[in-house]
Amino acid sequence: MKKPNGHEIIQLFEKFSPKSLAMEGDKIGLQIGRLNQKVKRVMIALDVLENVIDEAIEKDVQLIIAHHPPIFRPLKNIITDTVQGRMIEKLIKHDIAVYAAHTNLDVAKGGVNDLLADSLGLKEVEVLVPTFETGLKKLVVFVPETHADELRRVLGDVGAGYIGNYSHCSFSTSGTGRFMPGENTNPYIGSAGKIEAVDEVRIETIVPDKLLKKVISAMIKAHPYEEVAYDVYPLENKGEVLGLGRVGKIDEMTLGEFAEKVKTALDVNHVRVVGDLNTKVTKAAVLGGDGNKYWQHAKFKGADVYVTGDIYYHTAHDAMMEGLNMIDPGHNVEKIMKKGLTNILLKLCDEAGYEVEIFPSEINTDPFQFK
Ligand SMILES: [Zn+2]
Repeated sequence: MKKPNGHEIIQLFEKFSPKSLAMEGDKIGLQIGRLNQKVKRVMIALDVLENVIDEAIEKDVQLIIAHHPPIFRPLKNIITDTVQGRMIEKLIKHDIAVYAAHTNLDVAKGGVNDLLADSLGLKEVEVLVPTFETGLKKLVVFVPETHADELRRVLGDVGAGYIGNYSHCSFSTSGTGRFMPGENTNPYIGSAGKIEAVDEVRIETIVPDKLLKKVISAMIKAHPYEEVAYDVYPLENKGEVLGLGRVGKIDEMTLGEFAEKVKTALDVNHVRVVGDLNTKVTKAAVLGGDGNKYWQHAKFKGADVYVTGDIYYHTAHDAMMEGLNMIDPGHNVEKIMKKGLTNILLKLCDEAGYEVEIFPSEINTDPFQFK
C-alpha cells in the first residue's frame, strides 16, 4: 500500500469529477492550503463552516473535499477576528487543505444529481439541463491479421468502441500493407531495404476525446510493430450528454405519497409542496441545490413533479400556473454527497493501492429548523 499525497488523491478524484465539467465562473479546485503533503485522512463535507473545521482538526484530517466552495466571492482581506478570517487561519495553522468540487460534482456521472435520482428511485434517467457533450474521434489502426483479435480486445478494454450500452464496437476490413524498413530499424516482419507485403487488417473504432491518449498508448503497447500506422479523424457525432439535474420515470403514486418518499429517501423532516397532493405523478425531475431557474426544463421534459431546493415564492407561482408540481426538500439534501463521495473515493483509492482513511463529516450544516 502506498501513502499518497494530496495531489495523488485529487488526481483520482478528478478522473471521476473533472474540473472541465464545472459551470463557467464557478469557484472550484484547491482553495486553501497545499496538496504536496502526505494525506492520512480525508474528510468529505457539504459545507465548510467553523464547526466543520474544528471537526477536521479533532480528527487529524489533512484534506477536506467540500461541495460548496468556502471562498465564493473574492476576499478583500483576511482579518482573523472575523469568522471567515479565523476559519482560514485555523486551516492554515493546522495544515488542512480545502478542495472544492461544486458544479463539476453536480454534473459528473455518479455525482450529486445521480445520487439524488438513485435515492428517489428514478428509472430511465436522462440529464435535465445538458451543459456538456463529450467529443468523439475515429481511430483507425492497421495490424497484421495474426494480432487483430488481441488488438480489438485491448482497444475495447481501455474504453474505445462504446456505442450506447454496447462496448468493444469496431469494424474491420482486410487488405495488404506494404512497407520498406529503413536502415537502423528492427522490424517485426521483413528486413531492412526490402519492400514487404503483409496481410493486414484495418480496424476502425470510436473513442471519446478524454480517452484518446490512453487508448493510443495502450494500442501502441499491444501492437507488434515498431512503428504503428494509425489515423485519428475528427467526428461531427456528439458523444455522451452530461449536465445538471436528472429526470426519469417513477412508479405511479400521488404527489402526497411522492412527497413522503422524498422525505424518507433524502432524510428530511419537512418538504414544501406546490400542487394538489392527490394528483398522480409518474415522472420526476430532480436538481440538487437551487434549481429555480430550471423549472421550465422539468416541464419541457414532461416531468409531473420537480424536486429542488430554495424554491422562491414567485417561481412556485409560475410553475403552479403551468401545472408543474414542485417539492422543495431544502438545499441541504445535497448532504447525500458526503456518503456517496466517500464510497466513490474509497473505491478509487483502493484500486490505486492508496492507504488513506476517507470519511464523511458528521456535522449537520442545515441552517434551518422547523418549529
Ligand atoms: Zn448546493
